Amino acid sequence: MIVVMQPGATQEQVREVEQRLRELGFKSHPIYGEEKTVIGAVGDKKVLSLEAIINLPGVEKLVPIMKPYKLVSRELKKVKTVVEVRGVTIGGEQLVVMAGPCAVESWEQLIEAAWVVKEAGAQVLRGGAFKPRTSPYAFQGLEEKGLEMLARAREETGLPIVTEAVDTRDVTLVAHYTDIIQIGARNMQNFQLLREAGLTGKPILLKRGLAATVEEWLMAAEYIMAAGNPQVILCERGIRTYENATRNTVDISAVPLIRENSHLPIIVDPSHGTGSWKLVTPMARAAVAAGADGVMVEVHPDPSRALCDGPQSLHPDTFKRMMAELEPVAGAVGRTLL
Ligand code: PEP
Ligand code: MN
Repeated sequence: MIVVMQPGATQEQVREVEQRLRELGFKSHPIYGEEKTVIGAVGDKKVLSLEAIINLPGVEKLVPIMKPYKLVSRELKKVKTVVEVRGVTIGGEQLVVMAGPCAVESWEQLIEAAWVVKEAGAQVLRGGAFKPRTSPYAFQGLEEKGLEMLARAREETGLPIVTEAVDTRDVTLVAHYTDIIQIGARNMQNFQLLREAGLTGKPILLKRGLAATVEEWLMAAEYIMAAGNPQVILCERGIRTYENATRNTVDISAVPLIRENSHLPIIVDPSHGTGSWKLVTPMARAAVAAGADGVMVEVHPDPSRALCDGPQSLHPDTFKRMMAELEPVAGAVGRTLL
């Protein structure tokens, strides 16, 4: 339910509504707009118990939220959310490019990749320190040593970093080093992990699950927002379909769908989405054309030697070309890249 306050309603009237909502067993989330304040009331109580609210001073009307997700919905918040990390904005006019290796393998590999992506115009450095691998025998990541390297690469290049937390037990450690916590596709519905990550207060990059519907994905984002953290960035990374010519199927239609139904920023990861470096640039262009707020791509100084996801990792020269090719697409949809 959305409580719409009258234009000019006072702070005290807003506080009184919030107080009454809490008494009724709802959580209240005020959103201060330029003209009006609205208060999101969420909880599993029956709508009827909100009748008491309508007569409070300063209240204009009550509007039900029809979707099962509430805090992430456009119905509640019309204005797009812009997440800010160390001066980089995600969800604004400027597109964001997050790039770097799949996994942090060594200091030399990471810092080389970091400078390459920075010089080509990326604003965020990615790199996995805890790797969720399909095989238990595959490289699992450098863990805390990898996090230390990422933090050092941030110091040297000035790029904010994004890295994945795969377990609730590591969330505090990961949050200590990173600027953005990534929740991987395999953990999209690990609700305990979502809550723990949400509670750190750090921005969360929430990848779409391998077989998740858009609604399930938004419900997962709702968990993070319900934990009191509004800084959620959604990431479409391809879903499982019957098509096996590509690693996954990038659901480009999810981009405008999310834009319509949610105020949260959305980016696309064409690396995991396609599994093939040759398809990364065309799908990155498609993502931007469809209205994505940016892309996340894997870049490795020498993809042939990558310990993880080499076939989908861009060579530094290919990454530079991708950036050059994205620029006119960004301009065509009213966005800027650099
Ligand atoms: C990753 O970004 O490194 C990753 C493992 O992605 P996903 O969770 O989308 O598979
Ligand atoms: Mn990867």
